[in-house]
Amino acid sequence: MNLVILGVTGSIGSQTLDIVRNHRSEFNVIAVTCNKNIRKLREIIVEFSPSYVSIGQSENIEPLKSEFPDVVFEQGKQGLIGAATYKSDSEVLVVNALVGSAGLEPTIEAIKMKRNIALANKETLVVGGEIIMPLVKEYGVELIPVDSEHSAIKQLIMDKQDDVSEIIITASGGSFRDLSRNELKSVTVKDALDHPNWDMGQKITIDSATMMNKGFEVIEAHYLFNMPYEKIKTVLHRESMIHSLVEFNDSSILAHIGNPDMRVPINYALFYPTRMPYTGKRLDLVKLGALHFEELSYDRYPLFKLAIEAGKTGGLTPTILNAANEESVYLFLEGKISFLDIEEIVGECLNIFKTDLEVTLHNIITLDLRVREYVKNKV
Ligand code: NAD
Ligand code: MG
Repeated sequence: MNLVILGVTGSIGSQTLDIVRNHRSEFNVIAVTCNKNIRKLREIIVEFSPSYVSIGQSENIEPLKSEFPDVVFEQGKQGLIGAATYKSDSEVLVVNALVGSAGLEPTIEAIKMKRNIALANKETLVVGGEIIMPLVKEYGVELIPVDSEHSAIKQLIMDKQDDVSEIIITASGGSFRDLSRNELKSVTVKDALDHPNWDMGQKITIDSATMMNKGFEVIEAHYLFNMPYEKIKTVLHRESMIHSLVEFNDSSILAHIGNPDMRVPINYALFYPTRMPYTGKRLDLVKLGALHFEELSYDRYPLFKLAIEAGKTGGLTPTILNAANEESVYLFLEGKISFLDIEEIVGECLNIFKTDLEVTLHNIITLDLRVREYVKNKV
């Protein structure tokens, strides 16, 4: 199988390469992209010899071109699309491990090339679910979720979609699950990046602390499994051992249990529909002992509530939600705003930017840029 890996230097990208290393004869990495981690990119080029490489930041491209004369180098948005559509005589799986709505266009272009997608980049479905899902149908491609909850749900539903009565998405609660709303006023970036169960990229770690991530995942599930929002529930589950559950018409609830290890859903997506052995640590149920579940409160996590409302409103509202969130999270990571400013700014943008324009790629991109500019100008 030929692989394109968008966002190869990130947390999901690197773990995808771990799976590829375990199955070198099965995969050929033909194209990769990264934003600015050139040191890591160089190692990846040496180890996996891709033919096409795209980099977000342009100034770093020249030395690489002379170092690897056989590789085609590109940059920016065109480079991302170039990677997603890079020519190949045999079947290609595109792993989208980008962060943010930058993942939308390359996904659309890859689908139009009839390529299956292993999708980690949930923001693509948050902003573009209304465009992506009809394209998936039209071009007859597989959109295989990498997000652990959605991978779990896909594995649980199998071909019994019509018998599902509800989906239950589990949430760890993020870095601040034991803090009160009042205590959140003074938290630092370092505190926020210290997730109890998962080691992930910075943006999703902050989204987990605000619980925006879980709101995004509800929207993602809505599109992936064609489920009305009323049938998608969430529950706080501290151990992150149950990755999600599905309740069927006969009241049976199936759960997907395993160690919190993203290589498991990545392995599943890369080999789908085959189940390939994975040699990672096994879960010892006796050692684990007990599992806990609590209600996930809207009041404690206002961004979770805003996300679900935006999802239900649909149209371009999730684009506003996502753009405001992405830029606010980056401002927080840069130390320019406080943790609670993120929810303030997202709420404000949802009030200011009202739109009933049609959901088209052009309208998404235009609105996304406008909202980002507005947020950037606040500091
Ligand atoms: P990350 O920040 O670690 O990696 C992002 C990657 O995308 C990097 O390689 C970066 O260089 C690249 N990138 C970003 N912008 C780019 C651009 N404009 N052009 C080219 N490359 C660009 O993020 P991550 O944690 O790996 O998350 C990736 C996606 O997967 C996110 O949507 C996240 O929500 C989702 N996800 C991640 C995890 C996890 O465990 N990390 C779990 C579930 C879902
Ligand atoms: Mg997840």
